[in-house]
Amino acid sequence: LQSHASLVEFGKRHVTKGIARQVEAVIEKGEGSYITLGDGRTMLDFTCGIAVTNLGHCHPKVSAAAAEQCMKLVHGQCSIGFHGPYLELIERLLPMMPHKSLDSFYFWNSGSEAVEGAVKMARAVTGKQNIIALQGAYHGRTYGAMALTKSKTIYSEGFHPLMPGVFTAPFPYWHHFSLPPTTPASQLTSLCLNQLELLLQQQTSPKDTAAIIIEPVIGEGGYVPAPPEFLQGLRKICDRDGILLIVDEVQSGFLRTGKNFAIEYSGVRPDILTVAKGLANGFPLSGIVSSRELSDKLKPSSMGGTYAGNAVACAAGVATADAFKEENILENVNARSKELFGYLEPLRSSAAVLDIRGQGLMVAVEFASPTGTSIHDPLRNPSAPAKMASRVSKRCQEKGMFILTTSAYEVVRFIPALNISKEDLKKGCDIFVEAVEEIVH
Ligand code: PMP
Repeated sequence: LQSHASLVEFGKRHVTKGIARQVEAVIEKGEGSYITLGDGRTMLDFTCGIAVTNLGHCHPKVSAAAAEQCMKLVHGQCSIGFHGPYLELIERLLPMMPHKSLDSFYFWNSGSEAVEGAVKMARAVTGKQNIIALQGAYHGRTYGAMALTKSKTIYSEGFHPLMPGVFTAPFPYWHHFSLPPTTPASQLTSLCLNQLELLLQQQTSPKDTAAIIIEPVIGEGGYVPAPPEFLQGLRKICDRDGILLIVDEVQSGFLRTGKNFAIEYSGVRPDILTVAKGLANGFPLSGIVSSRELSDKLKPSSMGGTYAGNAVACAAGVATADAFKEENILENVNARSKELFGYLEPLRSSAAVLDIRGQGLMVAVEFASPTGTSIHDPLRNPSAPAKMASRVSKRCQEKGMFILTTSAYEVVRFIPALNISKEDLKKGCDIFVEAVEEIVH
């Protein structure tokens, strides 16, 4: 396995087909907003490994903290005792929480596991079973999380039966109602809240409903921020009916949207918050946060996991939280976000572009769907070329940048590092705009 080509051949032969890849190459090194491939190419990374390396690849302070922790304690099993980084991380996260009631934590490894834990907790503390998820949601690929995932059937096809007791309510995304992108948020909100009320009357009684789970910005399902009034409406219904509100900020959390957490745009209090990805800048770590009042209802040993809250990952999380503050990351997110929307604005006049939306550095460009290939898109523009989003992403790759699509609709998503420089942001936007123009014309 000497050459890059032989490594790639080995990988293609021995790594499961169940994983899809953007590029048949080995990623050798990551530094800031760039990754270097084994074939010698250095690529601008607008994916952050799917919204994970928010401080860029191999942030020196995060890597140093992890290396230091490696020499002290790697595995401090959470069912044996506390360990320092676990407690220090809670100390750092407490002031960042979107509501002061969120003061009880447990850490796990992945976002999916955090979602599983949140569902277990909701069922255990309410004594009720059913969970309502939102259309277009993505909550993960493990069995419980997969049952809550509503963005694309590829994630569940062939894997049924899924976890029972899951119901689906519409999310205020114009596509879901075959409406145009200019539809006012208030109209979408009332349509969705009415449908939710019907769901509670016709399909799952509040007496059987433990929780509603929502991403405040739908991620894989199209990068659509939920209107604040919709989230406020959900909170009211939950309060009225004794239903818990689980807010999944696995992708939108940790400064990504220009606030610590996207839910802050609505002022809504989550009963349970799930976090992961940006929490430890690339080290596998997730968290389930609730009030002490809720978590006190759990029986000891009903939660846990061998690697849950790994000490090295927690130490990386502490350094990540410190860097957010020390390096004024929030300021950079908001300044770069304005520039990003400015660079994309001229694309609005293109017939191929349906919508440009987002918050902070979680931004989407949605293209018109070609005839017949969209899930349901009455606005399809027959003159738009096929599969715009993946073609644009591929063209960007040829020009030296990785950028992702979402799993639903013709959407390209911008998730650059939160500390990206002015120059690198401009470079990436120039590549993107050029790619769109080349494909459209
Ligand atoms: N929830 C959301 C909102 C996500 O975006 C994701 C991952 N894309 C998950 C849960 C699942 O996280 P993981 O892949 O770490 O299991």
